[in-house]
Amino acid sequence: MRIARFSIDGNVAFGVVEGDPSDAEGPVLDIIKGHPFAEFERSGQRIPLNKVRLLPPVLPNKVIGIGRNYAEHAAELGHEVPEVPVAFFKPSTAVTGPGDPVPYPSFSAELHHEAELAVVIGRMCREVPRERVQDVILGYTCANDLTARDVQRRENQWARAKGFDGSCPLGPWVETELDPSDLGIMCTVNGEQRQLGSTGDMVHSIADLIVHITEAMTLLPGDVILTGTPAGVGPLNVGDEVAVTIEGIGTLTNKVIKRG
Ligand code: MG
Repeated sequence: MRIARFSIDGNVAFGVVEGDPSDAEGPVLDIIKGHPFAEFERSGQRIPLNKVRLLPPVLPNKVIGIGRNYAEHAAELGHEVPEVPVAFFKPSTAVTGPGDPVPYPSFSAELHHEAELAVVIGRMCREVPRERVQDVILGYTCANDLTARDVQRRENQWARAKGFDGSCPLGPWVETELDPSDLGIMCTVNGEQRQLGSTGDMVHSIADLIVHITEAMTLLPGDVILTGTPAGVGPLNVGDEVAVTIEGIGTLTNKVIKRG
């Protein structure tokens, strides 16, 4: 099931996406009563997807990023794959939605794209044992772990390099029925392919990551884990359209704009 969050006429709601984007009439949203973090009913009230503005599919309390989780990507930046996952935060204010413009950060001259599979947490959890990991996952969406690479090199902590406003596009929706173990993941810039990989190449699995993170902290419904990026990261310029596509989920597109 694909669950989108959207606004229409000033109201915000969740809806189940029905139909394929390639359908002639286009997909529709069946508005749900309540929210996707509990049992919910579909209202039967349907709105064409192209009549709404999609929002970030969740509003996380926190986004936990994982660095260097694909060997080829670690190598392209001259790093070893860490034995223990490297975790960092992106603040809730970094999150932005599908189609939203991303202002180029004023303090950087080297903005990079990083296509990533995002895990969306469905329930409050801590110290999750490996055999319970599936129970705490609501689903998966596409993410772009936008990074000010020059700032990341200069500053030991990555709070500014990876935490600036707009640095965490998420979307277009949460896919709740998906085996994430071997999905194609791609990034294009202005239609040209930059990154192409498989989630099967992650060093630390999603289960490993959830066990590792929840040893330390409680995850809340809507929290997001970014699982690392495959090789091929590279620069973005003002005016570029960057698209992250993950097999079985969809495409997350954002345009880089000049900061106003
Ligand atoms: Mg990343």
